[in-house]
Amino acid sequence: MSPLNSDVIVVGAGPAGSTAAKFLAERGHDVLILEKDRLPRNKACGGGVVRHALRFEYLRDFIEENHVGACRAHRSYDATLRYFVEYHTDEVLFYNVRRRDFDHRLVRFAMEAGAHLQEDTMVTGVGLDDGGVRVRTRDSDLTARVVIGAGGVLDPVARYIRRSEGLPEDMSDLSFVPVEEYPVDQSFIDDVYPDYMSVFHHGFEGSVYGWVFPKRGLLNIGIWPRPGERTDVKAVLQGYIDHLAGEGMVPEATQVERPLGAPLPSAGPAEVSVSHRMVICGDAARMVSPLTGEGIYYAMESGRMAALTIDEALARGEPTAGRLAPYHEMWWSTFGEDLRAMQYYARQVARYGTTLIRLAQKDRYLRGLFANLFMGTVDATGMRGRVLARMAIDLPLDVIRALNPLKVLRRR
Ligand SMILES: Cc1cc2nc3c(=O)[nH]c(=O)nc-3n(C[C@H](O)[C@H](O)[C@H](O)COP(=O)(O)OP(=O)(O)OC[C@H]3O[C@@H](n4cnc5c(N)ncnc54)[C@H](O)[C@@H]3O)c2cc1C
Repeated sequence: MSPLNSDVIVVGAGPAGSTAAKFLAERGHDVLILEKDRLPRNKACGGGVVRHALRFEYLRDFIEENHVGACRAHRSYDATLRYFVEYHTDEVLFYNVRRRDFDHRLVRFAMEAGAHLQEDTMVTGVGLDDGGVRVRTRDSDLTARVVIGAGGVLDPVARYIRRSEGLPEDMSDLSFVPVEEYPVDQSFIDDVYPDYMSVFHHGFEGSVYGWVFPKRGLLNIGIWPRPGERTDVKAVLQGYIDHLAGEGMVPEATQVERPLGAPLPSAGPAEVSVSHRMVICGDAARMVSPLTGEGIYYAMESGRMAALTIDEALARGEPTAGRLAPYHEMWWSTFGEDLRAMQYYARQVARYGTTLIRLAQKDRYLRGLFANLFMGTVDATGMRGRVLARMAIDLPLDVIRALNPLKVLRRR
């Protein structure tokens, strides 16, 4: 094998790849990021960054100075559009960012730490070689001791790992999700979306949900179709916007023009995330909440954990699957269970959305639990007991109220 080009090659300069590259470069490794696009670039996204992303201390100043609205309120509608709950809090539920700026800043953090970035470089495949891993690009082959797959849902390292584990190439959980941003007067935002109130329409026209994320001077609007549905996404998005216009939630005659779109997974995280000399992070390992579609924080956290594990594995010699295995255990025990729990909540919302929203209308505590769950600010696994316990109290009350026993008694 030819001399190695780097200690670690990272596929993709998204939140997962840039975070992994930064932590590895800080630990003295020679890191090369290969990115198919040229940064800064935009990305189809709501641009909501959950507040616990501020655990990455180096992000704090950037977010404080560059966020375009701190969301402190949430409204959720049910699929019949007849019921909604609203929740306001003094705490930030999430920060709105522009992905173009956010991702660009993350990769610059990595480069400031010493990582190298090669743009306009599409990785087409990976394979093992004597003493290293070979990374194929359209122009040449590069080699490294380890490769990190952080190229999103269609990542080539993830495909290699699935193939070598004999796992099927299953894309049935992917939805193609359109989103577009519409400039509006700030006074419109302040009137209609106080506290940068985020809005979800669960089950709108059979979708998972439609959303509005108001940001400074614009509305970020998208709709998440159910997986496997072949839909005219532009028409679906326009249908949602027409509904919003009818409710006064977007200026009249707002037209879909050139929405961005990207695949969003919903089946929960990958069962296998390491192999000999390889790990996958973020969307490549399907680390996206099946309830909310949130994935930026999981991408960053998995990138950090991958870097720490690779650092240790390289210090011990050959980065075998066994030496990289602690990475899988680390992310699984930190948020993997949570992502599974989110799948449970997603199913309940799809089945009983109206009942849940009606219960929450009457119970501020439950409203708070739901809003925090949807905004990704709480530990979903631990909450399952609290939600069920609260519903066990609320449900009989709700049924009793619906039956209205006093009225029945008075009639007698
Ligand atoms: C419509 C939509 C809305 C969303 N809204 C939110 C939200 O509001 N909040 C939230 O937290 N999450 C949201 N998500 C999810 C979030 O965007 C992802 O979870 C997150 O971007 C994952 O980061 P990543 O680094 O794993 O992958 P990505 O952000 O996809 O980055 C992958 C990078 O790899 C590059 N790349 C891909 N393939 C290759 C290749 N073969 N060779 C070289 N480079 C390659 C890409 O160009 C890209 O730069 C949304 C997703 C969608 C689709």
